Amino acid sequence: MTKLAVRNPRTGEADYYITPPSSEELSNSCRALRNAQDEWQQLGVNGRADVMQKWKTAIECRKEEIIAELVKDTGRHSETILEFNSIPAMIDRWCNLAPEILKAEDRITSSIPFLQIEGEYKPYSLVGVISPWNFPLLLSLIDAIPALLAGSAVIIKPSEFTPRFIEPLLETIADVPVLQGVLNVVTGAGETGRDIVNEVDLVAFTGSVKTGRLVGEACSKRFIPVSLELGGKDAAIVLKSADLDRATSAILWGSVANSGQSCLSIERTYVEDEVFDDFVELLVQKAKKLQLAHPNVEDGHIGPIITKMQANTIQQQLMDAADKGAIIHCGGEIEEHSGGLWCLPTVLTDVDHEMKIMVEETFGPVLPIMRVKDERQAVEFANNTNFGLGGAVFAGTEEKAIEVASQLEAGAISINDAALTAIMYEGEKNSFKFSGLGGSRMGSASIKRFIRKKAFLINTGVKDPWWYDV
Ligand code: NAD
Repeated sequence: MTKLAVRNPRTGEADYYITPPSSEELSNSCRALRNAQDEWQQLGVNGRADVMQKWKTAIECRKEEIIAELVKDTGRHSETILEFNSIPAMIDRWCNLAPEILKAEDRITSSIPFLQIEGEYKPYSLVGVISPWNFPLLLSLIDAIPALLAGSAVIIKPSEFTPRFIEPLLETIADVPVLQGVLNVVTGAGETGRDIVNEVDLVAFTGSVKTGRLVGEACSKRFIPVSLELGGKDAAIVLKSADLDRATSAILWGSVANSGQSCLSIERTYVEDEVFDDFVELLVQKAKKLQLAHPNVEDGHIGPIITKMQANTIQQQLMDAADKGAIIHCGGEIEEHSGGLWCLPTVLTDVDHEMKIMVEETFGPVLPIMRVKDERQAVEFANNTNFGLGGAVFAGTEEKAIEVASQLEAGAISINDAALTAIMYEGEKNSFKFSGLGGSRMGSASIKRFIRKKAFLINTGVKDPWWYDV
């Protein structure tokens, strides 16, 4: 297999190389994982939780190395600390939840009194996790951890743009030999992703709608389930009764954290006419205070745009908006510093749905704000999209905000806050429209994506009245 060069987002230099496995090597690796899975399943959920706790310790022991590589992968520091810290917490959460969710169900009597039912869970043998570059560690493990606890073996392929953290992560897996049998992380790009889809029994994919569609089609041809977590264009709605100080702070964070490179970023905001000017003034004031994390990675607030391709998309959308009459209040373009590509928080007004920036995923620290005459119009515009991941509503009361939120065609709506799915994984939700397919990744039910349920239908001894009387 040929070597792939990896670009450093802070310098623009190719300073790391990966050699993805050949199809045959990948196939051998999948076979080994599959062979080890039965023993893993036989450990029982409590046994698996003990192993996962050992892995958590191994991850914590290599905290500095993992963080250092993730910082090189992404060019940002503060979000990396949050990203790393979410992992031990996630392992603990699933170790606590899984035994209760997966415990054997009591035998029940059916509607035919002499027939009883006992249930059993059977995990999918091998789960393939394919993940994007915006939160490389978190999005590689968010599905892998519950899948492992469910009893599956797992193969993970992180994005080819952010593969440096794989080396120290593999070392943590090697520290726990039982886990090493059932968990592998491989490097590679789309070709390796395609090979994984051809090998596994279930795919948990996070990425763009474009690739998600290809993965979904390939899975349907193989008749295997797929969980698709795709792109978004989350809208925030600000009603005239909202606390504007709160709304501007939350929307700013929800739009520019991780330089806007989050599926759940607020990508457009609709504000009621009466408070529009005050909202924009306050937002611009706050946005102008944020600085690039440059030259020192620990400085400022806004890291580089991780991929060159994404920087091009942002630049093109900004140019398209400006050409069509948008007013740019701050930021406004991709800047090059020391070879990296950066974008300061960019607030735009005089925008409409003819502009790409209001309808296509931007994945940058960009806040287009549109004036609406009332909440009905706000809801109409917010729903005028192919995406349906999440959103946010700000109003004077929670009741009012929830009333508006219930009209939005999206899965996770933050109430008087923004982008809360970034930090809270307990709220069960589905993606609407092109933002995804499959069971909820959030909430305790998410682990059930990795198991099939069997039913033992037990005749307790009575001769069935419907048998032939012969
Ligand atoms: P992408 O779709 O380009 O790539 C995602 C992964 O798929 C990568 O690992 C890539 O190598 C792999 N891949 C590419 N072609 C493939 C193929 N034919 N078969 C199998 N795998 C293949 O996405 P990206 O640019 O890495 O990530 C950004 C996108 O991810 C954005 O749209 C963002 O909104 C989305 N995202 C969604 C969520 C969510 O939870 N809904 C979270 C984070 C990111």
